[in-house]
Amino acid sequence: MKQIKKSAFILSAVALVTIYSCTKDENEVPVENLDAKTIEQPHGLEKECMYVDAYWPSSAVLSTTLSAGAGTSSDVTLMNNQNTAIKTFWRGTSVAAPLFRFVYNGTNWNSTYNAISYSTGRIYYGEGIFRDAKAKDASNLINVMILAHEYGHQLQYAFGLPSVSESTARPNELEADGMAGYYLRRGYGKSTFASIATGYEFAYAIGDYQTTSSGHHGTPPQRRSAVRLGFLLADPANAKLTASQFDYNFFYYYSGVLAGTYRLAKPANISKETHAYIMLHMEELRRIQSGEMSDEEYFNLQ
Ligand SMILES: [Zn+2]
Repeated sequence: MKQIKKSAFILSAVALVTIYSCTKDENEVPVENLDAKTIEQPHGLEKECMYVDAYWPSSAVLSTTLSAGAGTSSDVTLMNNQNTAIKTFWRGTSVAAPLFRFVYNGTNWNSTYNAISYSTGRIYYGEGIFRDAKAKDASNLINVMILAHEYGHQLQYAFGLPSVSESTARPNELEADGMAGYYLRRGYGKSTFASIATGYEFAYAIGDYQTTSSGHHGTPPQRRSAVRLGFLLADPANAKLTASQFDYNFFYYYSGVLAGTYRLAKPANISKETHAYIMLHMEELRRIQSGEMSDEEYFNLQ
């Protein structure tokens, strides 16, 4: 079974360039023991595919529940429901949702301050990051955004994305941020940019300036602008995008944003409406990405 899945993954990767950052050591995949509340040690790191940079400690274990200090049973239900809802939003009902588990390591919250998406169809979510994200937004919007970011990596595995390759994980990470912004508007029903402010501020806060490190996730302003572009692409006036269409749209405009240039031509496979709408926002995106835009102006974007 595992062998078949692995072969399929390699086949789908043939046409691509950038699975590089998300390869997996199959030997490290833990074996599930469904009888236990806490299951196994979450080894098997894919450091390029994490929300932040950290490793699971050897004393950490997987859990299907949250410990009392981290969250409630309603939180667990929300996260499991969203794990399915995000999958269904992008891929419909015929595809299975990732295996979702929390990672527990006592009250050493810093040691589980991460969420990781594995190419084997698993998302491991640290109690530490869950707890902090809930403290910053009790509605769990930040946690839903992080989960949508991690599912973005599942889409990358499935469809051989991103289509853009760099020497760091930046395209993978910024695209996942964009997919999260897209989901929050189009799938989670957040119609105003202000209503997802806690989410993009969290992404902003954990952006990094390790621009030559392989694990670089994008600078804080870049993560902010990536969420913004995903949100703009989700304008409900436009047709819903598949993951691959999202990738094409995202990088078409984002490359221009990074370069500080306008790209005026409308490609054949981007709709007239989407192109017109995004072009109206190109200067705004450039100013967010460069850090020129003030927080006040950013928070007041429509
Ligand atoms: Zn990531």
